This record gives sequence, structure tokens and C-alpha cells, in this order.
Amino acid sequence: MSADAVAPPLTAMLAPENGVPLGSDPAPAAAVDVPARRKIQSINPATCELLSELDAADEPEVRAVVERARLAGPAWRALGVAGRARCLRRLKDALFARRHDIAALITREAGKPRLESLLAEVMVALDGLEYLGSHAAAFLAPERVPHQNLAVRFKRGRLEYEPYGVIGIISPSNYPFSIPMNQVGAALVAGNTVVLKPSEFTPQAGLAIQAIAEEARLPAGVFNVVVGDAVTGAALVSSAIDKLVFTGSVSTGKRIQAEAAARLLPTVLELGGKDPVIVCADADLELASSGAVWGAFTNAGQACLSAERVYVVREVADRFTALCAEKTRRLRVGAGDDPDTEVGPLIRERQLRIVEEHVAEAAAAGATVLTGGRRASPGGLAGFFYEPTVLTGVHHGMRIMREETFGPVLPIMTVRDEAEAVRLANDSLFGLSASIWTRDLGRGERLARSLESGSVMVNDCLSSFGIAEAPHGGFKLSGLGRTHSWVGLMEMTRVKYIDVDLVPRLPKLWWFSYDARANRLMENFVDFLFAPGFWTRVAGGCGLLARAGGRLRSMRKRDGTGG
Ligand code: NAD
Repeated sequence: MSADAVAPPLTAMLAPENGVPLGSDPAPAAAVDVPARRKIQSINPATCELLSELDAADEPEVRAVVERARLAGPAWRALGVAGRARCLRRLKDALFARRHDIAALITREAGKPRLESLLAEVMVALDGLEYLGSHAAAFLAPERVPHQNLAVRFKRGRLEYEPYGVIGIISPSNYPFSIPMNQVGAALVAGNTVVLKPSEFTPQAGLAIQAIAEEARLPAGVFNVVVGDAVTGAALVSSAIDKLVFTGSVSTGKRIQAEAAARLLPTVLELGGKDPVIVCADADLELASSGAVWGAFTNAGQACLSAERVYVVREVADRFTALCAEKTRRLRVGAGDDPDTEVGPLIRERQLRIVEEHVAEAAAAGATVLTGGRRASPGGLAGFFYEPTVLTGVHHGMRIMREETFGPVLPIMTVRDEAEAVRLANDSLFGLSASIWTRDLGRGERLARSLESGSVMVNDCLSSFGIAEAPHGGFKLSGLGRTHSWVGLMEMTRVKYIDVDLVPRLPKLWWFSYDARANRLMENFVDFLFAPGFWTRVAGGCGLLARAGGRLRSMRKRDGTGG
């Protein structure tokens, strides 16, 4: 299909087999002894309108899908990396052709402004697929391993990057398309097959990936989606998958890791963050305040890389804070399908309550609410809206500075100097990302090195997620392993070392037999190779020459080796 060809509406592809479209005939009444299926609901968080209701996959279904993925593996691997990269490019073209449908669907289901759906979801996914399609073959090519030790010089070593088999992917609701799409692309091109479980709040975004995979004519069984809730996710974790890539909260990540540990299931965990923003005295304050406001309120603050706390040095604190408050007041809150909307709703009521609690607790402990600080209902919409909020007078005794808020709140703390900012930034259980704002780029890099986080941006924030070449992942409680970039691609492979002896009859002096002479010879050999003193080495070399002949003869006599 050419990129701009007219295609049937995506909703038509998603609904029939995969869920109960609204307005369809009700399902026939279940027989008395058939247990009711668990349901998940796709809801528009701006309006609370029910978009679709779907059956949550149960354990036998998950097992069957994993088996289907396993059966598809050999033929998929046989395509080779070049063949799989071609499939990825087809996937990218199919996504491009559907970019408007997908962006609209994400806005409907996750609530974010249309522009963010197009950029942070569709474009990031396109970029990731293009990067993997173009570079995976080079990254996955076998690598020669030269040997330094004289004893093994006549061997040829090679690293090969093999797929695991079936990769399970469990995704969150905040970037329901670009997060799984990048992980799926890397898993597939490395030769794995995939079973994805999207968030129960955004199942349609996951099913949209399946629809695109079908349009791109990916072989059957190579990419699979199971929709469902935590129970479905747990079934995937305990199924016969060979590796799990999980993105979500720290608490779920810990639970999953405990389960995975019991059977040594390899995992990548992309977890929460409490990303600090450091504003230096020499920062361009217009830039820094616009960056912090965007970083805090994009996707209504529901980004793992959100600007969750700000440390601004005293000299510029008043001006910076005033700019942030002023720019925050100007933000337009509303439904994401209005092109003027800048901040959409939160995903669900539960998230709204967490935000309310954090703000209320901070205010009770002495924080000042400069703007926002309550629920909103723009245009009378019934959804889960919260006013973009700026707080000052905060400190590390408050949850708003220590726990992930994951909502549209920007707490600003004034600090003495940059050293205090770094100390406070590192005073956190999280370590996902951070940003530093300064005109002195050298200082920016120096401060970046002193922060305990998986990535640091100087004079920007959040956008490292959209850089295909940038590894994404955290230190500390923010997770294990990486996605994106060649580092994330390698997570989808297991490394195999292959060694070929080019001169097999060349004596291996370390084989049996062992005796006093063999011991002396080996001591000479170690001295010859590693002694720090020149003369000890020479003595070792001489001993080696003197004893080698006898050693070879005794090996030959004992079992026919020794040249
Ligand atoms: P969540 O942990 O509630 O759910 C994530 C996924 O895990 C969902 O698909 C859910 O159904 C599934 N799940 C829940 N319990 C499970 C269980 N016991 N076994 C298996 N699967 C289970 O997270 P969320 O609220 O959807 O997402 C928000 C969190 O994700 C935030 O903390 C955010 O920072 C984090 N996040 C991290 C990254 C990153 O790259 N580091 C990216 C996006 C979001």
C-alpha cells in the first residue's frame, strides 16, 4: 500500500473480532454455568464516554497466544535480519499511511492533545522503526573478538547476537502507542516474536499496532496482542515467554520482578521517575521557564520523564517562578481533539485523586499554590481534568517532592547554589532523567555527570525519549535495562560466543597431565606474560623454553596430544 493510499477506517479494523463496538447488538445471554468474562473498558478520559468494552484475556488464552508466537519463531528467524528489517520498513510505511487515524484514536482513548499524539506517539514510533530498519543489520552483525593472551592466539572468537524466542511486552497507558511500538520493533528485528499486553485503559492503541502489522503483512503469529488487565499481565509473566519488557509503575515492576526471579526470567523494567529540573543562575530564564512548563504539563504531566520538581538558585528564583506561573496560567485545558488544547485530562479518576492528595498535603504543610490546585471541567466536560498547578515553598519532607505525582503540577524549590540543587536532585529513590538549564554548556555537562540518573538533558527536557539513538532507562528505582537505541536493541538478544581453534593440533599445555614439571612450566609462563619486572619475564621465558620440550613429550606419551 502506498503511504497515502486511501484505507478503510481503523475503527473498522479494530472492532469486529477484537471487542464489542458501541451500539452493536448485545451478546447473547451466557449459559448459567459459564463464568462471566472479565471486561476492560476503553473510555475517553475527556468525556467519560465508553469507547468499547473488551474481554480480558484469561490464562489459557495467554498461554495459547504465547505458543502461537513460539511456533512463528523459526520462519521469522530464517528471514534473516535483512528480511526482518524490510518487514519493519513496511510496518513504518503502514503506520505513516495511518498516521491521522492513529493520532485521532490515541487522543480519543488517552486524552492527549492531537499534536502530542502525532509527535510523541506516531512520529516517535516512525522514527524508531526507521532507525531500527536502517541500522539493525549493522548492530546485530557478528563481531570478531581478538585474543590478547599468547596461549589462545590461534583461536578465532566471535560474538553472535541471537534472539531470545518470545518476548512479552507489558505497556502503560501514558504513551500507549510509541512505548510498545519501539519495543516491538526492536524485539522483532532482532528475530524474536512478540506478545504485547497493552494497558487496560488503552487497549485500542495496542490493537492498532496489530492492525498495522496486518496491513504491513507481517507473517501470522509474529506479533500478537492480548488485551486485558493486571490478571492478564500476570498470566503473561507466568507464561512460557523468554524475556519480559515491562513499562509501568515501580510497585508493579517490583511485583513482576519477584515473580520473574523465581524462574530467572530475564526482564527489562522501565519504571517511574521524579525527574528534577536544575535552573542555574546564568540560565536563559525565558527558555528555562518555557521548558519547565512544557516538561511539567505535556501529556498533563503523565510522562515518566515529566519535570516533576524544580530547583532554582536563589538569584533568579523570583523571576523564574513568576515566568513559570504566568506561562502556566496561559495554558489552554480541554479535550485533545480541539486543536487549541494544550493540556488534556488525566487518564482516570484514580490518577486525579493522587494529584489532589499530593497538592493538598503540600499546601497543608506550608506550600503556596501560585496557580491551579483544583479539578477543572473545561467547557463543562465530564472528564478527569486538573488545572495546571505551580507550587512554591516546597521541601523534601513533602510527598510532592519525593513521590511520583504523574499529573500537571510543577513544584519549585529555591536553593542556595548549584551544589545544593545537585544534592537535592540526587536525594531521591528515582533516577530516570533530569534537566539542567544554563548558558555555560561546559557547566551543564559537568553537572550532568554528577546527577544519578539514566539520562540528563542540558537546555531541554523530556525530548530524549524521541531521539531514536538515545538509550532510555533509569538508575535506582526507575528500572533495569534499557530500551531505544542500539543498547535497547541488544536487550532483545542473548550474546553467544563462538570460538574456533584454527590449529587444533597445536599443544594446549594446560591440558592433563599435571605434575611438578607442568606446575613449574606454568609458573614460568605466567611470569613470562605478566611479571611487572623485565628480568622476571626474561627468566620466565627462559624457563618456558627449557621445559616446553619435556612437557610436550609427556603429553604425547600420556594421551597422544602435545603435537
Ligand atoms: P501500572 O504499573 O499500573 O500498569 C502498567 C501495566 O502493567 C498495565 O498494562 C497493567 O495492566 C499491567 N499490570 C498491572 N499489574 C500487573 C501484574 N501484577 N502483573 C503483570 N502486569 C500487571 O502503570 P501505569 O499506571 O499504567 O503507568 C504509569 C507508570 O508507568 C508511572 O509510574 C510511569 O512513570 C511509568 N512509566 C515509565 C516509563 C519508562 O519508560 N520508564 C514510561 C511510561 C510510564
